[in-house]
Amino acid sequence: MIRRLLARLLPGLPTSTPRIYPPDRHPVRREQLSSAARTVTRRLQDEGFKAFIVGGAVRDLLLGIEPKDFDLATDATPEQVKPLFRRAFIIGRRFRLVHVHVGNDVIEVSTFRAAQAGNDTTDEHGRLLSDNVYGTQAEDAMRRDFTINALYFDPATETIWDYVGGVVDIRARRLKLIGPPVTRYREDPVRMLRAVRLAAKLGLAIDRRTEEPINRLASLMANVPPARLFDEMQKLLLSGHAAETLRSLRAHGLSHGLLPLLDVILEQPLGHKFIDAALAGTDARVRADKGVSPAFLFATLLWHEVLVTWNAAKERGERPLPALFDAMDKVLEAQAQRIAIPRRFEATIKEIWSLQPRFEQRAGTRPARLLEHPRFRAAYDFLALRAESGEAPRELVDWWTRFQEATPEEREAMLRPDEAPRKRRRSRSRNRKRHSESTGEGAAAAGDE
Ligand code: ATP
Ligand code: MG
Repeated sequence: MIRRLLARLLPGLPTSTPRIYPPDRHPVRREQLSSAARTVTRRLQDEGFKAFIVGGAVRDLLLGIEPKDFDLATDATPEQVKPLFRRAFIIGRRFRLVHVHVGNDVIEVSTFRAAQAGNDTTDEHGRLLSDNVYGTQAEDAMRRDFTINALYFDPATETIWDYVGGVVDIRARRLKLIGPPVTRYREDPVRMLRAVRLAAKLGLAIDRRTEEPINRLASLMANVPPARLFDEMQKLLLSGHAAETLRSLRAHGLSHGLLPLLDVILEQPLGHKFIDAALAGTDARVRADKGVSPAFLFATLLWHEVLVTWNAAKERGERPLPALFDAMDKVLEAQAQRIAIPRRFEATIKEIWSLQPRFEQRAGTRPARLLEHPRFRAAYDFLALRAESGEAPRELVDWWTRFQEATPEEREAMLRPDEAPRKRRRSRSRNRKRHSESTGEGAAAAGDE
């Protein structure tokens, strides 16, 4: 009773009794859920279990944004959930949950959990190593990161259950951690990244107490496993607000631990322009619902590191092409220590990079062969970005734009005079040197021989 009274007076204080918002006090309707989400919730509730839509989806609906996916929280254990559905799979080791497939949809169903901070469940920095202890719905709310991410929507009654003052915070457009910020960041430093990402994506202000420790604790990011960082980084880069988020990450001192040389790159005018152009292009594509490739993005974020390493090797007298491959390997290896870029992406990244020198070759059959390359489109887009930042000649991109659209006869006429590979090698490299000096372009002046 007193608790409930307190909760009313101090809406930000977590309680074990929720404030329940009836349908006439909030705008979320069950029709806004996917039919799969409704089916799975109904089935669980028919069996006598509690089942709610939770997290990002409820938050997005309250903010008037269309949710990407629907997650469910229930008091049924994974073993109780699985047999209720024809296609359901228990996944995850550290954090067991059930993926229920309905048509083409996958609904993630997780069992209410309690946070259990203690000596044997945290590392020496306070990072939570295990969170597989089931708990009550109130405990499940409390272990979540931000108040706005801890709201539960019951489709049957169209009520929202709020243990932490999340509805009030959404209305105030405020991002606030549940519980004491320093402890919560120590438990999981990724929450710092999430704070910056969600605030930028949703246009929310970070609450002062939530924001204050971030700069100070940024170095804790070093303890986060690289594979997890990749997941969060990918979300960040594909949010449609990548440019803004990266700016904010830098302002909060978080970028350093993620892409080690990003700060250095952004100090240089060329690098800054290149990454700005890349992120602006990606954000525009995401907002227009066009596909974006994470590999392309990571290729852009790391390109200027490759350039620096490559140019240094060339200055030492190394041959351009082997030096490029060497530089690519070095940069990807260094990056893997912080963010684990999956192998399949790495292969694409390397292709995009290694195709760049081939745009230089505009004689004989090489341009036609390059057009046929499966990564031509990505590599060409990449070249366009390089030109936009002033690192490659505009004329080169324009040539390739025309070449793609030209008829076979026009293409023939566009080709540069053929240079037999062996005989003219010397004079060609001299020409190329002159050409690169006159255009101010030095990076792409390698052949593929
Ligand atoms: P997005 O819309 O970008 O996916 P999200 O909030 O849904 O954002 P998810 O990673 O899908 O992010 O997480 C789902 C929910 O799980 C969150 O809403 C939050 O309640 C909880 N959660 C996620 N990450 C953490 C974390 N690091 N610590 C505590 N709770 C978390
Ligand atoms: Mg989500």
